Amino acid sequence: EAARLLIESVLAERRRTLTEMESKALLAAFHIPVTPTMLARSANEAMMLATQLGFPVALKIDSPDIVHKSDVQGVALNIQSGAAARDTFNEMVARVKRLQPLARINGVTVQKMARAQRGRGGREVCVGLVTDEAFGPTIVFGAGGTMIELIADRAMELPPLNQFLSRRLIERARVAETLQQGWQGGPPADLEALERVLLRVSEMVCEFPQLREMDINPLIVDETGAVAVDARIVLQ
Ligand code: ADP
Ligand code: MG
Repeated sequence: EAARLLIESVLAERRRTLTEMESKALLAAFHIPVTPTMLARSANEAMMLATQLGFPVALKIDSPDIVHKSDVQGVALNIQSGAAARDTFNEMVARVKRLQPLARINGVTVQKMARAQRGRGGREVCVGLVTDEAFGPTIVFGAGGTMIELIADRAMELPPLNQFLSRRLIERARVAETLQQGWQGGPPADLEALERVLLRVSEMVCEFPQLREMDINPLIVDETGAVAVDARIVLQ
């Protein structure tokens, strides 16, 4: 129900692309784990939200006109103090205004760092939805992170997924090997948590034909679970 209201309010504003915060809210409504994310509209708010969430946090530019935040240095990771959050807010907004003067800026999101990024490596994967001309909604899985375009590791399956199909989808991607064997000597990743995310994405797709594209990139998977740290959803 919360999901339906969110989609309606975005469409009422004549928008098709949900911000990272809105996309994560939709994922959370379907019980997909996301990093707690809040919007700061001023440097002081960034400082207070960071303190509330607990350090370390990540700060990211929030703009309907910016799809790849890293391209405009709109992502700052591992911020360790309120003062650093405040300074980062000011620097980030000034930099983005310089690089993209026409971009509308809502503010900066403050979010918890995914546990895996702080200590030993989790793996970054992507889970997505594309609408294929012939097949319709198609679920995509593969290696994730900012290098995704270079690696081109993508496996696809049509919804609805069941446990068997989601496991097979994971296994068809090349990244499956490092998930099963662990990363850099670490323990194997929690594949059941990853399967649950795929099943819930499939449920979302079946319940909301309004979804045209979805890009959870990255979903960070480690031995303790899976969490979406970035997401973008596009409606029909
Ligand atoms: P972009 O819009 O450039 O894709 P992302 O939000 O995906 O921006 O951030 C870029 C990278 O920063 C991610 O691929 C991930 O490695 C890291 N990252 C982003 N948010 C978090 C977070 N909350 N916790 C840990 N790592 C993060
Ligand atoms: Mg991303």
